[in-house]
Amino acid sequence: MDYKSYIRHMPVCLECGDRIRYGRADKKFCCDECKTRHYNRQAKGSRAFRRKVLRQLDRNYEILDSLIHSGVTAADMTDLMSMGFMPALATSFKRTRTRVEYACYDIKYIMTPSRLSSISKIQNVSVPLQVGTEMSNR
Ligand SMILES: [Zn+2]
Repeated sequence: MDYKSYIRHMPVCLECGDRIRYGRADKKFCCDECKTRHYNRQAKGSRAFRRKVLRQLDRNYEILDSLIHSGVTAADMTDLMSMGFMPALATSFKRTRTRVEYACYDIKYIMTPSRLSSISKIQNVSVPLQVGTEMSNR
């Protein structure tokens, strides 16, 4: 192997992209500074993602809550999504033989790809929510 291909085969720092010239072959960073910077950025990204999910859950909740306050218990998915509802996010779900019941905090609903129905507040919410509690048989 000539020197150029030797260099080419050296691992690359995940943070700065420099070749890692010293240390074990499975080394991921050229220096401690790069390592710290990399993991800090990763943690920051993770926090930002969690904040984004929580904001969207709040948005979903506000939409469902406003529907309930207006006396609306069912809505088309296209309308909901145009209001900013994101169907992929819920705080819990429960599968029965015939349907899946979702919840966004203390609001439950039945969801199909085209529609939400049976939107209502869960009475007597207890924390922590137990897995498999009977939410729908009321
Ligand atoms: Zn580096």
